[in-house]
Amino acid sequence: MPPSESLSEDSVGLCLGLDSIGPASPHGDRVVYWMHSSHRTIHNPALEAAIVISNRNQLPLDVLFILDPALPDVNLRSFSFLLQGLDDVDRELRSRGIHLSVRRGDTITELLKHLQDASALIMDQGYLRHHRQWYRLLDKELDIPTLQCEGNIVIPVRTASDKEEWSAATFRRKIAAKTLSYLKPVQEQVPLISSRGFWGEGLEWKGHEWHLRWMDMQGSANPSPNLYGGQDAAERILEEFMRKRFDCYHNSRNDPNLRCCSELSPYLHLGQISPVRIAMEVMKAGGPNSEAYLEQLIVRRELSINHVSFNVNYDRYQGLPEWCRKSLDEHSKDAREYIYSFTDLERGRTHDPYWNAAQRQMLSTGIMHNYMRMYWGKKILEWSETPQQAFENALRLNNRYELDGRDANGYTGVAWCFGKHDRPWKERPIFGTVRYMNDRGLERKFDMAAYIQMTLEEKDRIEKLVS
Ligand SMILES: Cc1cc2nc3c(=O)[nH]c(=O)nc-3n(C[C@H](O)[C@H](O)[C@H](O)COP(=O)(O)OP(=O)(O)OC[C@H]3O[C@@H](n4cnc5c(N)ncnc54)[C@H](O)[C@@H]3O)c2cc1C
Repeated sequence: MPPSESLSEDSVGLCLGLDSIGPASPHGDRVVYWMHSSHRTIHNPALEAAIVISNRNQLPLDVLFILDPALPDVNLRSFSFLLQGLDDVDRELRSRGIHLSVRRGDTITELLKHLQDASALIMDQGYLRHHRQWYRLLDKELDIPTLQCEGNIVIPVRTASDKEEWSAATFRRKIAAKTLSYLKPVQEQVPLISSRGFWGEGLEWKGHEWHLRWMDMQGSANPSPNLYGGQDAAERILEEFMRKRFDCYHNSRNDPNLRCCSELSPYLHLGQISPVRIAMEVMKAGGPNSEAYLEQLIVRRELSINHVSFNVNYDRYQGLPEWCRKSLDEHSKDAREYIYSFTDLERGRTHDPYWNAAQRQMLSTGIMHNYMRMYWGKKILEWSETPQQAFENALRLNNRYELDGRDANGYTGVAWCFGKHDRPWKERPIFGTVRYMNDRGLERKFDMAAYIQMTLEEKDRIEKLVS
């Protein structure tokens, strides 16, 4: 499509307001797209909208990425995965004649510095506490036209629902009729003016290894040798999943010994792949696998985004539904057969070989299998002095070691273990009416000896690789 014709919202996806954004400020010399939640060039509505706006105003486009080492819970593992992804972004932007600027430091300070000569700002939308804080600050400081795009979700969060949803059932009903209209490709735009080499001495991308040294990140979690970050890797994994593993998704995705899941959550977390793009691929296949996958990718994932968007205490014990807190509090003095400190848990030193194996899998690879995550969280609740302590420890471990941690899904997944989005079950010690899980359930369903063996072999292999 010729660039001058491609001005409608429909052609770039979830950028509500694209058609009504005012002309760029005459005081600046460029349009800036601040990429912070959709780290990709494929199927990225904010990037395409930014090109539309820069073409419309006959200005070059500058894409900005800010590396902020003070963001909550980031470490060497999460940052190396993120930086690997920016290699792909830089290469692809370069090939389209677009400049990538990189700054390091406090997000808002660096952003405001960078916007001094900007004529308009386009940015992603995130849903967590720190994102909301950024947007509040920007609201006060900015006097240039600004557009925000929801590029990491299928249905815009407030279109899906205007309140915190009670359960997957209530949310599913609300989005059922809306989903299809959002499953559309994003039309790639062509920039009229190249911005390569325009600005920013010292601000250009120098490769992920250089930037990792520059960031000087410390942390207990080493980079994952199993998973490589970026849109290229995400596309490869999606292709391989559809070809080799999709057929067993519906029946066997819960088995921790089988690789029937997509393993795309770290990529979705950083927006290195679009959920709309994945959903469109999966829909082509159809059938029960497709239905089961879309339930997770759209209903469950976007229910998590609904949770963090509408519940101000999404990352605190107080954010749990009242019935859960009441029941857990009533049982908080129940005798516990085992109590483990944060360090015991972190080192995987419990009496339970299945739990230790799950913890080992997360420590060494950066990914714990979905089904084991539920068991893992439930047991932390069972083995902690108080449910409040359990909630904090589970979140801290999840955010520190999981490549997909620090995500709406992580906060909601942990909260689920404490009853969120679930219903009351039969009352029992410690858990009250919150759903309980036990090791006999694991043994009945899966070959747990094989799971332990697999995590030991994985750990050995990775230790050899790292040393
Ligand atoms: C205690 C606990 C902690 C969790 N922490 C995280 C986390 O930090 N980050 C994270 O992305 N997910 C988290 N989850 C949800 C879920 O376990 C992962 O999304 C899933 O294991 C990712 O693997 P996959 O990409 O192979 O999933 P697939 O089965 O291939 O599913 C595709 C996508 O659907 C979404 N999805 C799948 N299961 C769920 C679910 N139960 N809830 C919401 N979305 C889902 C994910 O985005 C996933 O990538 C957590 C769950 C629990 C119980």
